[in-house]
Amino acid sequence: MALRKNTETVPDFDQQLRTAGIESIGLDALRTLQVNLGNRCNQRCSHCHVGAGPEGDKIMPRDVMQGIVDFLGNHPGLCVDMTGGCPELNPNFRFFVENVHPLAEPLMTRTNLTVSLEPGLDWVAPLYRDHRVVVIGSLPCYTEQNVDKQRGRHVFKASMKAIKRLNELGYGCEKDLQLNLVYNPGGDFLPGPQEQLEADYKRELNEKFGVRFNRLFTMTNAPIGRFKQYLEANGLLGPYLELLADNFNPEAAENVMCRSLVSVDYRGLLYNCDFNQALGLPIILADGQAATIDRLDDVISQDVDVITGTHCYCCTAGAGSSCTGSLVE
Ligand code: SF4
Ligand code: SF4
Repeated sequence: MALRKNTETVPDFDQQLRTAGIESIGLDALRTLQVNLGNRCNQRCSHCHVGAGPEGDKIMPRDVMQGIVDFLGNHPGLCVDMTGGCPELNPNFRFFVENVHPLAEPLMTRTNLTVSLEPGLDWVAPLYRDHRVVVIGSLPCYTEQNVDKQRGRHVFKASMKAIKRLNELGYGCEKDLQLNLVYNPGGDFLPGPQEQLEADYKRELNEKFGVRFNRLFTMTNAPIGRFKQYLEANGLLGPYLELLADNFNPEAAENVMCRSLVSVDYRGLLYNCDFNQALGLPIILADGQAATIDRLDDVISQDVDVITGTHCYCCTAGAGSSCTGSLVE
C-alpha cells in the first residue's frame, strides 16, 4: 500500500478506499448547501480549522449571497447550513436569513453560542426563532474546565447563558425549534459513542444548569488549521493521523457528507466540504475552471470526483464524522 511522505506515515486515502472496495467518492445527490459567511469570530479556539478570530476579514458580500439565493430559487427544498467564523458577524446576516428561509428545508446555523451575548446582537436569537432556524451550538464538553481550556476563559458560563436564552424562546423545548449541540474531543483522540455522550450531556446540563437541547452531534477533530499546528508543535501529527487511519471504517466512508453536500466560501467558490475549503481545494470543473456558485448546476451534472486527501481520514475513523455528527450507529 502506498505511503505518503513527511509526517504522513499513513496509507494513501484513495488507496485505502479502493482496498475497501470503494473506487471513488462523488456527489451522489445535492441535499445540503453549506455556506461559509466569513471568518470573523468573537473567539479564537485552539482547535479551529478555519483559523477564525476577531480580526477575520474574509466576509461574504451581498452579491455572493444573492447568487446563492438565486440558485436556491431554482432548487428549493435544499438544506442550507450557515457557518463561519460566526455567521452572525456578517453585516448582511439578516438579509441572508430572511431571503433563504422561504427556500431552504431546513435553514440551519452553526453558532459558538457566546456571540449572541455580544453588545448589539440581542436580535440574533429572536431572528432564529422567527425563521425557524435550526441552531447548532458548539459545546465540546459539559464541564466548565474542559470548555474553557479549548475555547477560552468564561466561554462555558457564557454558553450556558446563551442556551438559557434560546430555551426561553422555545429552543430545545418546542418541537419545531431545534437546538442541537456539537461535541469535539479536547485533544488527539476520537469521540466516544454519540448516543451515550448525548445522554451524559442531557443529564449534566439539565441537572446542573437547567438547560435543554435536542440532539448532540459528535465530530472528530480535523488535522488541519490550528489543530494541525497544535499537533505539529507537540510531535503528535503522525500519531494522530495513524490513529485516524487505523480506525478507518468502510461503512463511514460510504456515508461521508461530501456525497450530498457542497460548501461555498465567502467569494462564492465551491468545495466538496468545509475542510477542503480551509485547505484551499476548490471543485475543478471539466473545463479546468474552479467552480463558483453560478456554476453549481455544472458541478451537479458533471459528476466530478471529490478531492480527497489524508485529512479525509477524520470523516471515516470509528463511527465516522460529519457536520451532523457520527455516520454509523
Ligand atoms: S472554532 Fe468556531 S468559535 Fe472557535 S474560533 Fe473557530 S469559528 Fe470561532
Ligand atoms: S474531508 Fe471532506 S472531502 Fe474528505 S471525506 Fe470528509 S467531507 Fe469528504
